[in-house]
Amino acid sequence: MTEFTMTINATSTAGAGTFDVIDPATGEVFAQAPDCGTEQLDAAMDAAAHAYRRWKLDDKARRRALRDAADVLDSGTERLARLLTAEQGMPLSNARTEIGWATMWLRYYADLEIPREIVQDDQTGFAEVIRRPVGVVAAIVPWNLPIILAIWKIAPALLAGNTVVLKPSPFTPLATLAMGEMLRDIFPPGVLNVVSGQDPLGAWMTAHPTPRKISFTGSIATGAKVAAAAATDLKRVTLELGGNDPAIVLEDADPGRVADDIFTGAFMNNGQLCMAIKRVYVHERRHAELVEALAARAHAARVGSGFDEGVQLGPISNRPQFDRVSELVADAIDHGAVAAAGGQPLDRPGYFFAPTILTGAADGTRIVDEEQFGPALPVIAYRDLDEAVDRANDTPYGLTASVWTDDATRAADVASRLECGQVTVNAHGNGLRPDLPFGGHKHSGIGVTNGPWGLHRFTELQVLTGPARVAGTSQNARQAD
Ligand code: NAD
Repeated sequence: MTEFTMTINATSTAGAGTFDVIDPATGEVFAQAPDCGTEQLDAAMDAAAHAYRRWKLDDKARRRALRDAADVLDSGTERLARLLTAEQGMPLSNARTEIGWATMWLRYYADLEIPREIVQDDQTGFAEVIRRPVGVVAAIVPWNLPIILAIWKIAPALLAGNTVVLKPSPFTPLATLAMGEMLRDIFPPGVLNVVSGQDPLGAWMTAHPTPRKISFTGSIATGAKVAAAAATDLKRVTLELGGNDPAIVLEDADPGRVADDIFTGAFMNNGQLCMAIKRVYVHERRHAELVEALAARAHAARVGSGFDEGVQLGPISNRPQFDRVSELVADAIDHGAVAAAGGQPLDRPGYFFAPTILTGAADGTRIVDEEQFGPALPVIAYRDLDEAVDRANDTPYGLTASVWTDDATRAADVASRLECGQVTVNAHGNGLRPDLPFGGHKHSGIGVTNGPWGLHRFTELQVLTGPARVAGTSQNARQAD
């Protein structure tokens, strides 16, 4: 069995113990991950604090290191992708795509120009607004896309001059530990530390006095705990949390034409995407046709081990999530919903669930009101578009949404009324790009990642003023350009 170690101060470090990592395709233990103890966490935080003093000084070195990191991940794609598939369950082709995204994001940030913000530069004075790094960043990540979600934090945090202590989910620690190992020689010791452990390790990190910023991606329930922990010593937070993302299909949208994209938007990564379509509202005249088209795609989808050629959907990623999806689908059926496809787990080892299309699920049913985060989609009929928009908004969630119509004016009107961080027209999730901000309204998050907006969340503003003669001669200021 391969031994996995943590990266603390660029050194391979074993845990205080180990914990089991389970293969979701079999339900069996297949690896051990290091369980970080409090002393090791202290060592990681100390290393990050020490490294911060120098790392924040050299902008060019930081950009170079991000580019080198992208090259190293590029050449390590196959190893990382295979680990991702083994621990997360996703098809190998998706895992390779995830590593490709990671390198794209690293290169985007390596090249992101940050213009100087000079507010005054004349005979009477000089004033500049500068973005300084925050310090040590505690980065905490979930299990659905372990590598790209880590890179969404690492790349902007490191570019801005911060140092990082990163913790993956206990369900998917292995690819992240391997990435830490691959990047050991790229960043100076202490700049990027990777620790693994179970949920209490996350709580220790957020309560630790060293980090000045917590960048967290995960559930709303945990996000609220993170915010509470951060409040005690006023750490900065970015929270990327859950979604219950609606797709609104207008009467003019042809179900035969939109069904492929709606199916992909809902079932990509087995529905385990924060921004996956979680509810479809479709005009009542199109409802039966769309249900039939989506059910046909669900029946045809190839489900199996992520290592098998041609598989589209792997197992659900872990036992608690499998139990949750099973429970929500059973609850919907108990309350009168009908499965037009799927409706139950597949009868085989591992956490496989039949791709499920539900019709007749009423508002107030758990699968409509909560985030299912799995391969089950309620398709709900509406009569009046205003009513559909109200129902889409009637939730504490506010991550993404999509509108499906050829009428650009109506699409823009519906988009303007949806309470969420991104709206896509005739597609779902296309706004997920390095150069666009991604974040939730309402309970779906605080702050954003990606683009310059995401970078700014890893900085503090500092104003530099002086007499006119400082202008053009100051060497002080240019942390980030
Ligand atoms: P989770 O909240 O259970 O765990 C997320 C991480 O937090 C894990 O690393 C976990 O160990 C850690 N953690 C647990 N308790 C903690 C505590 N008290 N303090 C600090 N850290 C703690 O979430 P999950 O089940 O791993 O992930 C699924 C959720 O993540 C879904 O709700 C999904 O929508 C959300 N998500 C959001 C985004 C986004 O960008 N908005 C992206 C991906 C996933």
